[in-house]
Amino acid sequence: MRAWEENVRKVIPYVPGEQPKQKDIIKLNTNENPYPPAPGVQKALEQFSALSYDTLRKYPDPSADVLVESLATYYHLEKDQVFVGVGSDDVLAMAFLTFFNSSRPILFPDITYSFYDVWADLFHIPYERQPLDERFRIVKSDYYKKNGGVIFPNPNAPTGVLMELDEIEDIIKHNQDVIVIVDEAYIDFGGTSALPLIEKYDNLLIVQTFSKSRSMAGMRIGYAMGNKTLIKYLNDVKYSFNSYTMNQTVLAAGPAAIEDEAYFQGTRKKIIETRERVKKELRELGFAFEDSMSNFLFVTHEKYMARDIFEALKRSRIYVRYFNHPRIDNHLRISIGTDEEMDCLIKFLKEYLK
Ligand code: PMP
Repeated sequence: MRAWEENVRKVIPYVPGEQPKQKDIIKLNTNENPYPPAPGVQKALEQFSALSYDTLRKYPDPSADVLVESLATYYHLEKDQVFVGVGSDDVLAMAFLTFFNSSRPILFPDITYSFYDVWADLFHIPYERQPLDERFRIVKSDYYKKNGGVIFPNPNAPTGVLMELDEIEDIIKHNQDVIVIVDEAYIDFGGTSALPLIEKYDNLLIVQTFSKSRSMAGMRIGYAMGNKTLIKYLNDVKYSFNSYTMNQTVLAAGPAAIEDEAYFQGTRKKIIETRERVKKELRELGFAFEDSMSNFLFVTHEKYMARDIFEALKRSRIYVRYFNHPRIDNHLRISIGTDEEMDCLIKFLKEYLK
């Protein structure tokens, strides 16, 4: 090892799901939305290109005002209760950096979004994983001990299991001296947001994204909502890191996605309907899973090994996600695609499991 390597910040990075280059695949591995963004998004981008191309010379608005305002209006909040970033990954990373600075460990589930421990390691934040129960449920009393902060997704990922609001409120009530972050990346697929609780608890931060229910993973827009003091602290850290996080095309396209409520409700409903149908079909094929309220199912098979099914699906150009992690290494996470895509999946599985 070279001497200078001693001073390098060493991390084991997060491994994102594969983004294969081929076009003719069925991609059910990264929980993307199978439907395009709202038509207004395309219009906004065309308009930007036709009328505002020249403004690319200039820096974007560092406060991302139009986007913040459209979110604030949509959620009936003040502008200074909303923070935006480059996907919720950026927002969550900023939140870790801003709020998790205690010598006590932060708490999150043992089976959860695998970026949390990566950020904790990156920022040298101590952490303790709290085991989910045998049905992949968060055990709320595990979060009642002294800690440096709490974070969990609702619904949880990759399990899809939803926690009820009163249980979330119990966790917040027991943790009023630290920040509690609820990562609601998948909340629009059937859950109830904890957003109203930000009026009651000044230590609660809700994080959401345009990547799933708004079909805009490629645009990278995430946001946090909380009381004004929390948002100010987040902005202080953001402006100490990178002022210009949201580029001009994002600022043009983001509000257009928020404005088309009918499109949002329509695609959301389609995905939920497809999910419910696929749940039945997978059960008939011998798969078992906890109920999912997200745009993916986390399944295990009574006879066949998840890894073998994963490999076989991949050979047939159907990509799902397999995690070689303790407790979940016999599970597959299958994102909900279009009805046609899910029909292909089911057809393949019927043949394979014969
Ligand atoms: N939270 C959870 C639980 C996720 O699964 C994801 C998607 N990988 C994210 C946050 C980040 O999504 P994005 O950065 O695209 O908003």
